[in-house]
Amino acid sequence: MAANPSEPAVPGGAGTPSWFARAAAAWPDWALALKNLFLPVYCKACGARILTEDNVFFCPDCWMRAPWIEPPYCTCCGRPHPGMIALGNAPEHFPCADCRETKHPRVERVFAPAVYDDVVKTAVKLFKFGGRRQLARPMGEALRDMVRERMDTGLYDLVIPVPLHPVRLRQRGFNQSLLLAQEVLSEFPRAALDSSLIRVRPTRAQSRLKPKERAENVRGAFAVTGDSVKKKTILLVDDVVTTRETVTECARVLRRAGAARVDVLAFALAVPRTRW
Ligand SMILES: [Zn+2]
Ligand SMILES: [Zn+2]
Repeated sequence: MAANPSEPAVPGGAGTPSWFARAAAAWPDWALALKNLFLPVYCKACGARILTEDNVFFCPDCWMRAPWIEPPYCTCCGRPHPGMIALGNAPEHFPCADCRETKHPRVERVFAPAVYDDVVKTAVKLFKFGGRRQLARPMGEALRDMVRERMDTGLYDLVIPVPLHPVRLRQRGFNQSLLLAQEVLSEFPRAALDSSLIRVRPTRAQSRLKPKERAENVRGAFAVTGDSVKKKTILLVDDVVTTRETVTECARVLRRAGAARVDVLAFALAVPRTRW
């Protein structure tokens, strides 16, 4: 085949019997069908039987219809601009009204591929509270796609997951933010995974608190050990940014320890319904 560059190098192309190509292509389907017969897996959103191994929790339709954040989005908080539909070449990304009002934000930019709603919300809850750590894989894939498309990957020195308190870590068995950080690390050529940000005080779930109580809840909850963050550009990784208090407090502590800049990468952002 290499002798003739005009021949297509695809299975079933010249030189490969078509029956062989078809059988080879069908084999994974048969293996999956057999597996499904004995170990059926159903989509957690619509109940359809799942016939792919990419994501064993949601069918491709539901995952595709998840509330992914499409351009244009805010260049600071990462949330989609309200009521705007991206049309081919325009409009460009720009800061939203909320972000234009915020002076000296501790977090420079927030990046996320999805809005925290629908199937994304179900996925995060299963991941975090249902102990389904395998969800890190499809979530990581969505994150990596977005990272490649939207981020300046050479910018970061350190990738730091939002830490869990040791008691919470023991209960859950894993830190969801660390699993996501591990999924994306390879996308950042200069960055190392760093664990010098620690949680020194347990906190209550931010989602159950009133806006006023949230900042109070996380104040003094984090600390930085050692001096590895000094003068470094940091990518802080969290599963969901619900209200920004947690990541802002982390960024405050990191900046106080000498970090030059803190950006946030999350799988999902809570966005009020009126905004998208
Ligand atoms: Zn489904
Ligand atoms: Zn914004």
